Amino acid sequence: MVGAGFAGVECVRRLERRLSPAEAEIAMVTPNSYQLYLPLLPQVASGVLTPQSVAISLRRSRRYRTRIIPGGAIGVDTRAKICIIRKITGEVTEQAYDHLVLAPGSITRTYDIPGLTEHARGMKTLAEAMYLRDHVIAQLDLADASEDEAERAARLCFVVVGGGYAGTETAACLQRLTHHAVKRYPRLDPRQIRWHLVDLAPKLMPELGDALGKAALEILRRRGIEVSLGVSVAKAGATEVTLTDGRVLPTRTLIWTAGVAASPLIGTLGAETARGRLVVTPELTVPGASGVFALGDAAAVPDLASQEEGAICPPTAQHAQRQGRTLADNLIATLRHEPLSPYVHKDLGLVVDLGGTDAVSKPLGVPLRGLPAQVVARGYHWSALRTNVAKTRVLTNWMLNALAGDDFVRTGYRSSKPPTLREFEYTDAYLTPDQVRAHTAALRVAG
Ligand SMILES: Cc1cc2nc3c(=O)[nH]c(=O)nc-3n(C[C@H](O)[C@H](O)[C@H](O)COP(=O)(O)OP(=O)(O)OC[C@H]3O[C@@H](n4cnc5c(N)ncnc54)[C@H](O)[C@@H]3O)c2cc1C
Repeated sequence: MVGAGFAGVECVRRLERRLSPAEAEIAMVTPNSYQLYLPLLPQVASGVLTPQSVAISLRRSRRYRTRIIPGGAIGVDTRAKICIIRKITGEVTEQAYDHLVLAPGSITRTYDIPGLTEHARGMKTLAEAMYLRDHVIAQLDLADASEDEAERAARLCFVVVGGGYAGTETAACLQRLTHHAVKRYPRLDPRQIRWHLVDLAPKLMPELGDALGKAALEILRRRGIEVSLGVSVAKAGATEVTLTDGRVLPTRTLIWTAGVAASPLIGTLGAETARGRLVVTPELTVPGASGVFALGDAAAVPDLASQEEGAICPPTAQHAQRQGRTLADNLIATLRHEPLSPYVHKDLGLVVDLGGTDAVSKPLGVPLRGLPAQVVARGYHWSALRTNVAKTRVLTNWMLNALAGDDFVRTGYRSSKPPTLREFEYTDAYLTPDQVRAHTAALRVAG
């Protein structure tokens, strides 16, 4: 198993339950010892939740027996049936497999925009969420200390790109943070704080439908967030961002959430991809690669519940987790020489937490806004957390935050040279398909 996210952990837990130790030995390659509950990441950035509450231990399970290999897979040779792994020490090692499940998820999608990868930060990892929280509070501290009006204005201007749920929640939750934090800075005028949410699409979160998309837009605008649709970034720099409509925004903060791309591990296989995701059958097997399965954000899983011809499942936790179950059943069926089943799931809808009592959601097609939407959003996430400890931590954090608020302290996570998007997400760590083949060929010669 490669990856311990929604898809990988669900699959492994089911394999542990349904396969006896005599039937299979399970190994999981993962850089971290936790499963990250990504949908609650904006709440970590805004300080509503502690980082520990969304990092769910992989070792807290009654039936836990999987061998965890701490590192990242950097290449796969499907012919030699070898997965090449870089351990967290930097040592490169190989793991032979009979069956391989690829669930390495996705990375932030970037485009060829000058300055973007150097100056933008994403919202995909726990480190990025913690960094952004420190960074935003640091801007308030620095603006407060500055005598220079222009610097102060730039530090109080925040730009978020991406009008999907990740970007919208990030902008809304962080704006709430600065809105409350500024009360502790008597020298700062709250009207100087400006939040921009920018997206190339003509609508926010189109999957919510027109009415709820508009409701979300109204909530954001009421809270003073300037939403610019049909616009993207033309150029990014250390002290300003130029938009495609010609506006130049002096800012020290560019948060980029405009889409995801499959993990670069997929490219190392040299197999067929669709929109960058690994092509799989409805049974989640990889055509032409014996014993290999893939799922989650990294795979182009046919969406058999969709009316649209050739549709693939959207990259959501909802699908990833359920694909994990189907894949475990199909892997067991393969071992037992039984027929495989296709993955079919009808989307249950979307929940969007905009902080406080602001939310929009569409559970099972029912449009909700305000407090009822917030209850559904938090209830959904709470029930989806895997362990009782995580549930208790999240609930306690929510209550504590509602009662006592936030102290807006920087934890020192922000270093003088902040990591780039690539460094945060380790996107340069991978081999090319040729390097993979050369590596396994060298192993054969040595062996
Ligand atoms: C801010 C935000 C909010 C979101 N909100 C929602 C929501 O409300 N509802 C929803 O359904 N979805 C939401 N999503 C999307 C959802 O989180 C993803 O679709 C889901 O996490 C995909 O599951 P996955 O298992 O494929 O990947 P992930 O959960 O990302 O897991 C991938 C795992 O693989 C590991 N990994 C990566 N590369 C390697 C490697 N080379 N070797 C070994 N391990 C590797 C990673 O460390 C990680 O543990 C949100 C995403 C974000 C970023």
